[in-house]
Amino acid sequence: MIENHKNNKHPKVLLAIFALGMITDSFNRIHNYLRISLTDRCNLRCFYCMPEEGVDLIEKAHIMTLEEIVGIVKVYQKLGVDTVRLTGGEPLVRKNVDFLVKELAALGLTLKLTTNGILLDKYLDLFEEIGLKKINISLDSLDKNKAAFITKRDYFDRIMQNIDLALDKGMDVKLNIVIIKGVNDVELLDFIRLTQKQKITVKFIEFMPFKGNQWDWSKGVSQQEILDKAQQEFGALEVLDNPKHSTSVNFKIKNALGSFGIISTITHPFCSECNRIRLTADGKMKNCLFANKEVDILTAYRKGEGIEDLILESIKQKKYSRDGMELKMDAKKYENNRSMISIGG
Ligand code: SAM
Ligand code: SF4
Repeated sequence: MIENHKNNKHPKVLLAIFALGMITDSFNRIHNYLRISLTDRCNLRCFYCMPEEGVDLIEKAHIMTLEEIVGIVKVYQKLGVDTVRLTGGEPLVRKNVDFLVKELAALGLTLKLTTNGILLDKYLDLFEEIGLKKINISLDSLDKNKAAFITKRDYFDRIMQNIDLALDKGMDVKLNIVIIKGVNDVELLDFIRLTQKQKITVKFIEFMPFKGNQWDWSKGVSQQEILDKAQQEFGALEVLDNPKHSTSVNFKIKNALGSFGIISTITHPFCSECNRIRLTADGKMKNCLFANKEVDILTAYRKGEGIEDLILESIKQKKYSRDGMELKMDAKKYENNRSMISIGG
């Protein structure tokens, strides 16, 4: 009898063969999703993201040029990255972002964007043209005054108009809401009601700790609290299937066109299937959002040195969950990380 050796290989061996040359960590997680911060500048000042006293901005000379971003992304792509999310700071304040988006789209990558929405109208036609459909927009309040309190700027009307424009264009819009006790938790049900008549996704994000954001979990609202409130108001929730690498658990209320999800980094971390890596605006690779250790990709790239080994070595150092932080988050650790505005969420 002729044996089919191909099919007899142990699944672990098959995985190892498949993962060869890909960005694989010591837990066999393959990393195909790169989140790039285009800038640490922003036109808002959300208090949970940017410290009260501001941040030391990265010197322009140390920020990756758009050409450097394209060159570095090509290397990541060679190592198996197929999805890139542009973020920041506010990615759309970056000059000539349209050039970058076109170049990255031409590489055949799936492109996604996280934005505060202020400048979105300028780019929607381009995004439609190149097929960038998945847009996450931060909107922490449906109340103009409260939004101004949270963001310290008054752009609410413009953001709301741009959300409508994006929906009219058929974009896949997700609203990101960092839910904080005594600030916007009273709006939880109003946000979910938005999904009743619109094909929109609302994502509640548990408040996370970063340098200088005065984090304290007593200000946070947990996944369970959100679900309890939603069920009390809307009855049984439909639990939606989660794509493998999803960072959120997702639900639908009865007869709704849209859905809502919860990104529960604090109370239910989703690290086991993590496929994400980050590149800061100054070209440092972070193998985890909470990793203090960064690998300087840009300097090596500028010197003309190969960066593949640096990338692969960095991923080997990745810890299983939240860079080793226990459930009780360790202030000594996150205060040594960057502020969220200069990481790229
Ligand atoms: N400026 C863009 C925006 O606001 O969408 C992109 C950058 S922002 C850092 C990316 C995401 O991180 C936003 O959805 C924001 O709400 C989230 N974020 C910032 N600080 C956070 C924190 N402390 N906890 C949870 N999410 C946070
Ligand atoms: Fe700017 Fe986004 Fe941070 Fe708000 S959450 S300060 S919009 S980077």
